[in-house]
Amino acid sequence: LLAAPPVERTVDSVCPFCGVGCQITYQVGGERIVGVQGRNGPANQARLCVKGRFGLDYIHHPDRLMLPLIRKPGAPKQVPPAGADWRAVFREATWDEALALATGPLRALRAAHGPKALAGFGSAKGSNEEAYLFQKLVRTGFGSNNVDHCTRLCHASSVAALLEGLGSGAVSNPVRDVEHAEFILVIGANPTANHPVAATWMKNAVQRGARLVLADPRATDMRQHAWRTLQFKPDADVALLNALLHTVIEEGLTDAAFIRDRTLQYEALRQHVQAYSPEAMAPLCGIAASTLREVARAYATSPAAMIFWGMGVSQHVHGTDNVRCLIALATITGQIGKPGSGLHPLRGQNNVQGASDAGLIPMMFPDYQRVDNPQARAWFEQFWGTALDERPGYTVVEILNLALADDAHPHKVRGMYIMGENPAMSDPDLHHTRHALAHLEHLVVQDIFLTETAWLADVVLPASAWPEKTGTASNTDRTVQMGRRALAPPGQARPDLWIIQQMAAGMGLRWHYPGAEAGVAAVYEEMRQAMHRSIGGITWQRLERDSSVTYPCLSADDPGQPVVFTERFPTPTGRATLVPAGIVWANERPDADYPLVLITGRQLEHWHTGSMTRRAAVLDALEPIATACMNAREMARCGVQPGALVQVRSRRGAVQLHLRLDEGTPDGAVFMPFAYAEAAANLLTNAVLDPFGKIPEFKYCAVAVQALQ
Ligand code: SF4
Repeated sequence: LLAAPPVERTVDSVCPFCGVGCQITYQVGGERIVGVQGRNGPANQARLCVKGRFGLDYIHHPDRLMLPLIRKPGAPKQVPPAGADWRAVFREATWDEALALATGPLRALRAAHGPKALAGFGSAKGSNEEAYLFQKLVRTGFGSNNVDHCTRLCHASSVAALLEGLGSGAVSNPVRDVEHAEFILVIGANPTANHPVAATWMKNAVQRGARLVLADPRATDMRQHAWRTLQFKPDADVALLNALLHTVIEEGLTDAAFIRDRTLQYEALRQHVQAYSPEAMAPLCGIAASTLREVARAYATSPAAMIFWGMGVSQHVHGTDNVRCLIALATITGQIGKPGSGLHPLRGQNNVQGASDAGLIPMMFPDYQRVDNPQARAWFEQFWGTALDERPGYTVVEILNLALADDAHPHKVRGMYIMGENPAMSDPDLHHTRHALAHLEHLVVQDIFLTETAWLADVVLPASAWPEKTGTASNTDRTVQMGRRALAPPGQARPDLWIIQQMAAGMGLRWHYPGAEAGVAAVYEEMRQAMHRSIGGITWQRLERDSSVTYPCLSADDPGQPVVFTERFPTPTGRATLVPAGIVWANERPDADYPLVLITGRQLEHWHTGSMTRRAAVLDALEPIATACMNAREMARCGVQPGALVQVRSRRGAVQLHLRLDEGTPDGAVFMPFAYAEAAANLLTNAVLDPFGKIPEFKYCAVAVQALQ
């Protein structure tokens, strides 16, 4: 725990966990972080959740990687059970040897098979500068757009729909705009667990009198504060949302002027939703028609209404369709483009917004300039001084599928560089994912721990934790914030920005970023030029002085714009495009062999694949073991008791874990967090993708539960 030496100094920074982006102050004593205080940042006003306040000691865990590791000849490529000795698989190496062994085979694969043989996964846990430099390395050094990161697993479908409909993939209003909202719809999200400080602002809004509607197959803790809770069937989102649209239009609750002046394709939407009356949709989504109508009326007639959503909306084969419906709901009612009215996809990781903005995605250069747009490509070719691939690259799941392609496949992926991501835990259908990673001819992993992915690497490069480096991150509100270094990395671990530059040099690139901490300020200033349409007015010096600025911010005297779309949308016409969505059911629905729906997600205490929070003493003490949640009725049907050891199996795998009673989990379903390697939920999940966002259907697959004792 954090009981420790007296505080010797303090360092202002940002929380390394979720996308809320709470500002913090590290208390440092004896070269350890001994405490964390909330700071007066725009997103948190000194508030913190348990992760931010008590979860930082992971950086001092004895499992930290301190030296580069090289795989021993013949060592099996597999994820071992907990407690395995890494010395059986790896040997320690110097940085010179490790970097030579990391880049030499990548160069050879590129020479033998072409640029598409290589791919890179960057990280949403690192800084904007790292994301920018990583994608630049892949595009200019590997030679293709095969670069992606975990946004593909969280909000890729949201971004696809938002770019299509509104011309921007980010939020329209910050979380704290709920202070001005009279109505709040939270759909497919569990803010008290996943965005806890954001949830506190929502609760404050309810205390002030705002009406909160929760729409989710799981009834979460926020229901204590809700005006209405819509616990709909797990893949019936489009049916529910189309019923709301139908009601708004049929009952004449639209904003006719907004539709006339600021949207396209309204008539197609109107005709489409005629078939989706609440009365027709009620049996499909499991919500009474009268309730659907009541919620639609309240939303449309509210003076100001916000919609928040999370992975429950995005992680479906119809994830993009869900967000198309939300965009339509906000625009036909005029509930966007003013204080307290807007759309907010709650971003998961601390810098998933910034990493996407910085171009860590296969179809876009920085600032969402499409790689297949000749003008955009010409600009970046001149800016970076090299020819660039004109075709979008492959996405996370596609890249790993291509690792298992036939040798004759022209785009077979043979070598990868993975920085700070853990696909061997985070991707769907893990037996397949791990087989693909092990099948690569060469894999370089850069991380702070020997993650499940790092166990499959040929070369492991020891990296820096967030408190050990300076850099910026952009939170869910589009606010760019300064993270400051409090400690040096342990042993021979190095800043990620330095490692990326060494990898670039090994790939033959000639970069020069002078200055302290691997030239982080110089990298930021180059990135600012590449992203002048959004952060052109946010200089490094300004961030050093102010700690945070919200974009768009185009000049030194621009204060930044927390609320956007006030006059027009950033589309060629300035209007929003309405896209009708039909019902697409989940890819794999329950049957006699697998009668339950598996819903995966996160817990308050554990973050993503658990590599950090399960090594944080307080968080691990609070939630030490994997559990699966079911309600009492479903437990009785399955013949199991709370606390029982059970096997949960799908068509792709099986795990063993204990049951937890949770009356919020719906009938016919089981909920599992995906942070536990010993009972990895993603061994069970289905790798089918949303066709637009290419996001896997983590929120729905068929499983069976069986008692083991
Ligand atoms: Fe950190 Fe998110 Fe908790 Fe804030 S709400 S302290 S950003 S984990």
